[in-house]
Amino acid sequence: MPMSASFKDRLFPRIPAIQQQFQTPFHIYDEAGIRETGATLIKAFSGIPGFREFFAVKALPNREILKLMKEMGFGFDCSSIPELIQARELGAKPEDIMFTSNNTSQEEFEFAAKDGGCILNLDDISLIDKVPVFPELICFRYNPGPRRTGNVIIGNPEEAKYGVSHEQVVEAYRRAQARGAKRFGLHTMVASNELDYTYIVETARMVLEVAEEVEAALGIQFEFVNIGGGFGIPYRPEQKALDLPTMSKEITAIFDGFRARHGHAPAMYMESGRFMTGPHGALVATAINSKDTYRKYIGLDACMSSLMRPALYGSYHHIDVLGKEGVEASEVYDVVGSLCENNDKFAIQRELPPIEDGDLVVIHDSGAHGHAMGFQYNGRLRPKELMLRADGRVELIRRAETVEDYFATYNFEPSVLKP
Ligand SMILES: *Cc1c(COP(=O)(O)O)cnc(C)c1O
Repeated sequence: MPMSASFKDRLFPRIPAIQQQFQTPFHIYDEAGIRETGATLIKAFSGIPGFREFFAVKALPNREILKLMKEMGFGFDCSSIPELIQARELGAKPEDIMFTSNNTSQEEFEFAAKDGGCILNLDDISLIDKVPVFPELICFRYNPGPRRTGNVIIGNPEEAKYGVSHEQVVEAYRRAQARGAKRFGLHTMVASNELDYTYIVETARMVLEVAEEVEAALGIQFEFVNIGGGFGIPYRPEQKALDLPTMSKEITAIFDGFRARHGHAPAMYMESGRFMTGPHGALVATAINSKDTYRKYIGLDACMSSLMRPALYGSYHHIDVLGKEGVEASEVYDVVGSLCENNDKFAIQRELPPIEDGDLVVIHDSGAHGHAMGFQYNGRLRPKELMLRADGRVELIRRAETVEDYFATYNFEPSVLKP
């Protein structure tokens, strides 16, 4: 099921009043739901000592959301300078930040090393010599290549630009040791929106097998393995949620097996983004136009600058029309934005109840890779973000972009290279 019944029950009756105060379009996030998912995750993996989630900041980089993550004891998975800045401004300490970049620049390495540094997760063996101040604690991203098949969003590991290959992994840690590393982690990220729990169990097994191999070759002990993000959420009504209870039980057993064989086991880290916030956000927009040509179209006051996923991946996002939940889906619509791109469609040939101008439309599951992925192409600006607090308040947590924001990059000192 897309959005939870609880979020829907608390949100839908409030939407007309929220619309009056804040005006569409907006993303709205559910504090109670995010906290509940966080608590579920912690409980599921409580059998693995040192378990920790590092929230993937890119999924929903709003500071109020990040504050919730911090309050739940989570760290941050950052991959750029602005993400590092935001995590540090919220008080994240070096070991609260996993810096998982790729194609990393010298400037990024220098920034990562500031303020006591962070957990540096290197994407390639060639980067070892480029790290200006080599940290004591180092991690590498492992890419299994042909050893694993991939999934739709992230692709086959063999074709993915990320990580060190299986053949390089022992050598990577050997060279890191030569540069002074004394503490070690191992990372992988091979799934995206994965709903088959067994794929994630196999990922945990894989990363522990690689850890075992490196430990045996170099006589080191890993402090943690990081299985990455990619836990899926059901975007479609007929999809079933990830079986977290069975998954965590099987993963915990794999860690127990490692501990039984070696007398120690690394902690498990993960960096879920979508699973933490995806279902706890919705994009609310108003229907402002309808047209009937070769197809029937409903035009919203939001466009793909608010939510790129349908255009980028052909993703399904469930849609409700406020007040028409019980009405028969007797129409077939393309639900579209205003961008001059024919893929600016939130839904294609979707069965929906008849929609009139002024109807409020709720697009589900916009809580991850939604607002964050937006852009300004065609002068279409990103909408505001709201939070439905656990106590029922609705709070503006980011204003909409303005025309002044759009022109802000014209504010610079003239600079010309003479002929
Ligand atoms: C995008 C990303 C994540 C989060 O992925 P989700 O699908 O949102 O869980 C985690 N780690 C890395 C390195 C990523 O690039």
